[in-house]
Amino acid sequence: MSTIFEKSVPGRIGYRLPEADVPTEPIESLIPDALLRKEAPNLPESSQIEVVRHYTKLSKMNYGVEDGFYPLGSCTMKYNPKINEDMARLAGFADAHAWQGEELSQGSLHLMYDLGEMLRQTAGMDAITLQPAAGSQGEMVGMMLIRKALEKRGELGKRTKIILPDSAHGTNPASAMICGFEVMETKSNKNGKVDLEAFRANVDDTVAGFMLTNPNTLGLFEEDILEITQIIHDAGGYCYMDGANLNAILGHARPGDMGFDIVHYNLHKTFSTPHGGGGPGSGPVSVVAELAPYLPVPVAVKHDDGTYGLDFDRPDSIGKMQAFHGSFGMLIRAYTYIRMLGSDGLKSVSDHAVLHANYIKERLKDTFNLPYDETCMHEVVFSGRGAVEGAHMTDIAKRLLDYGIHPSSIYFPLIVPEAMMIEPTETVSKEELDEFIDALKAIVKEGKQDVNVLLEAPHTTPVRRLDDVKAAKELILRA
Ligand SMILES: *Cc1c(COP(=O)(O)O)cnc(C)c1O
Repeated sequence: MSTIFEKSVPGRIGYRLPEADVPTEPIESLIPDALLRKEAPNLPESSQIEVVRHYTKLSKMNYGVEDGFYPLGSCTMKYNPKINEDMARLAGFADAHAWQGEELSQGSLHLMYDLGEMLRQTAGMDAITLQPAAGSQGEMVGMMLIRKALEKRGELGKRTKIILPDSAHGTNPASAMICGFEVMETKSNKNGKVDLEAFRANVDDTVAGFMLTNPNTLGLFEEDILEITQIIHDAGGYCYMDGANLNAILGHARPGDMGFDIVHYNLHKTFSTPHGGGGPGSGPVSVVAELAPYLPVPVAVKHDDGTYGLDFDRPDSIGKMQAFHGSFGMLIRAYTYIRMLGSDGLKSVSDHAVLHANYIKERLKDTFNLPYDETCMHEVVFSGRGAVEGAHMTDIAKRLLDYGIHPSSIYFPLIVPEAMMIEPTETVSKEELDEFIDALKAIVKEGKQDVNVLLEAPHTTPVRRLDDVKAAKELILRA
């Protein structure tokens, strides 16, 4: 398919504007010469219907949550309720300007304050910032808060390391390192959880903090969590919970009660705001009272007279993390999702997310190797090793595309060879789960008969197999 630039015909237009009926100055006289473009920009020239057809065709070559099941693991891909979109389009929100002042922004500030309160309480924490624009930026904020706290304690030079389990999401070590910490990996035990003995041996007075995902990236709940956080606190460090995917524990367990000092949430995962290309993202961070003074500035507050405002008077703040207030449109959507469900609804989100993952686990454990065979939480990790002789997990995943299903995450977490990490989420029906399971069973069966069917997959997609390594190493996005 040709690009919109290749389709361009000089002089063709897709709009019609009336002649201006007010006096206009030539634009050149309004813009300083140094800023004036000397040549016209290279833009495609097309008619309106050509543009519409072009992008409609492109959209049909894509796959998203509204096409079908999207069971990525560690990256909750759930349905984005349409009521969220309705609320985000209310004129009072959609037309609001961040500079219109607190007095004229009471509704928006009220929403930010209430959302912060709801998220904070969900995690059992004391204070929150809604600013970060992604989970990874939330992690960075968390690491900056730890740095600031250590600086205040006069221990910054002494406490240099952040401990992470070997099952950690890749952004965790990156966030720690970008904030100047050393990363130390701690081993998982044979049950896929933090090995307490090895962990204890890693903890000393150089520890700044510990980052953990719970349930961890194998979809398993760390039952020793109270002991783990206690060990870190006894050593003088802080505990960070990566709460990107809180689907498993909403309404059932709170990171604050587990002993965590900081937690980030991905609104674009757990709280149903659009994810990936449909973003932008939003990664609020909540903290215990000790770390509250360091949160990014400003913070949405409720005054004694019932009005809402922004608190800029935070001398110990780590500073500003985003222009204005982060991804405000996403805050509206997450707020709507939470209000629509209520606390009972949030709890049933977790009930269903966990039930669905366990259903997949039980129905597929004869087809794929299950390295950690116990009740899982919101996701389940299989190993594709040995499932089909001569085929890798990537071949099985590519073949799923021919069945019209987006594959799950593969090759993560790193501690499972040929990993396939499946997170169905709560927004899937039993029929869809069965279709997915049956497709995987059928793929293994056909692969055993003729492995080439898998090795050459996908056969039916707009483009055949892409060179992932080349795409990652040669980031040339335009000719
Ligand atoms: C998605 C994810 C992140 C990073 O979130 P982004 O918004 O993509 O930056 C961090 N940790 C875990 C466990 C995740 O699943």
